[in-house]
Amino acid sequence: MPFDEIKAADLEPTAAFAERMDSIDTLSSFRDAFNLPVDRNGRPVAYFVGNSLGLQPKAARGIVEEVMDDWARLAVDGHFDADRPWYPYHEQVRDELATVVGAKPVEVVAMNTLTVNLHLLLMSFHRPEGIRRRILMEDGAFPSDTYAVCSHVAARGGDPESDVVRIAPRKGEDLLRTEDIVAEIHRLGDSLSTVMLGGVNFRTGQLLDIPAITSAGHQVGATVGFDLAHAAGNIPLRLHDHDVDYAAWCSYKYLNAGPGAVAGAFIHERHASDLDLPRFAGWWGNDPSTRFRMHLEDTFIPVPSAEAWQLSNPPILSMAPLVASLDRFVEAGMDRLRAKSRVLTGYLHACLHEFLPDDATIVTPANAEERGCQLTVRLEGDARRRFEGLAEHGVIADFRPPDLVRLAPVPLYSTFEDCFRAASTLRDA
Ligand SMILES: *Cc1c(COP(=O)(O)O)cnc(C)c1O
Repeated sequence: MPFDEIKAADLEPTAAFAERMDSIDTLSSFRDAFNLPVDRNGRPVAYFVGNSLGLQPKAARGIVEEVMDDWARLAVDGHFDADRPWYPYHEQVRDELATVVGAKPVEVVAMNTLTVNLHLLLMSFHRPEGIRRRILMEDGAFPSDTYAVCSHVAARGGDPESDVVRIAPRKGEDLLRTEDIVAEIHRLGDSLSTVMLGGVNFRTGQLLDIPAITSAGHQVGATVGFDLAHAAGNIPLRLHDHDVDYAAWCSYKYLNAGPGAVAGAFIHERHASDLDLPRFAGWWGNDPSTRFRMHLEDTFIPVPSAEAWQLSNPPILSMAPLVASLDRFVEAGMDRLRAKSRVLTGYLHACLHEFLPDDATIVTPANAEERGCQLTVRLEGDARRRFEGLAEHGVIADFRPPDLVRLAPVPLYSTFEDCFRAASTLRDA
């Protein structure tokens, strides 16, 4: 039975069910494409922190070594003569990146790191003018996003106290309601410059309604962007079709491109082709045909694509693993990954529900359409101690004090057995 025919009611919280699902999983061979750490007994760990740092694709080492070899063998000629030439290196991941986030190739670029990209994008999409000067973000956002937005507003002459508006869940609730976000956008109306929200919340795992929020923002004349750190490689995105203005994400979480990997940015075609948009410029954003003419060119001619936002020549060594990682996504296909992910996370949900009826609450939405792979569990009692029990048994999860445990079964390399192991270990801890 294909995964997309399995309904929530079919999920049985048993080891036998896990075994059956693992045996029919057509993506199971992808697990072998990654290096999995082992626990102290030499057994592969159950790895649930791909939302923090994805596993290493085995192919990454060869591609990094290829760059080292080309550098040794060719030195400066590696820019054009390397097997994967460095001059257009970022172009080699463009189509794959576009596929993963549902964009056109002209709308994406691999560059910098996430927080840097947020600043570069805000430079173009937050355009305070008259009363239109507010940015809407979520309360309790990932700290880097809050620092970026507030410092950006201050550096541009605004007042973060009044210009940054933070939306929070209702009292006593953990999740944001789409209706509340839309109502807040309408309330801010003409004073709203841009909306910048996490597509999937890092803490709760909630997937926001990207099309509804984008459309509401556009109705009041604001631009709408998303931080997709927890969405890219986790859920199929349709950034172009949903008319999102801009987005940024990192590549070391679900995209498995390694610590400090080169991040990504999306700029909708209608903006990417607008050469007059204000932006910070550097030589790598210039038309590649004249980029190397150096002193002969002192007028910046932006590439009519997202690549115009690039400043510097890219860090080839840290971009190399992204090549290896994106290949796995293209081979597996985002839709197949999502079909497995729904069942895998649904199964973990069912096991947690069955094994921990009284002492754990699942914070993440129960509806699979409103989440990616991550489940966030609030534990009663000594939450930290119970979390430590997981690690002692080779289940690698993540603890957000005081009482939240995050578990992200990743469809590229996690198994149903891993999920059973996590839930039963948590019960016994
Ligand atoms: C992981 C994460 C970051 C990290 O930012 P870097 O610039 O990559 O260090 C920022 N924002 C969100 C929402 C994240 O999940």
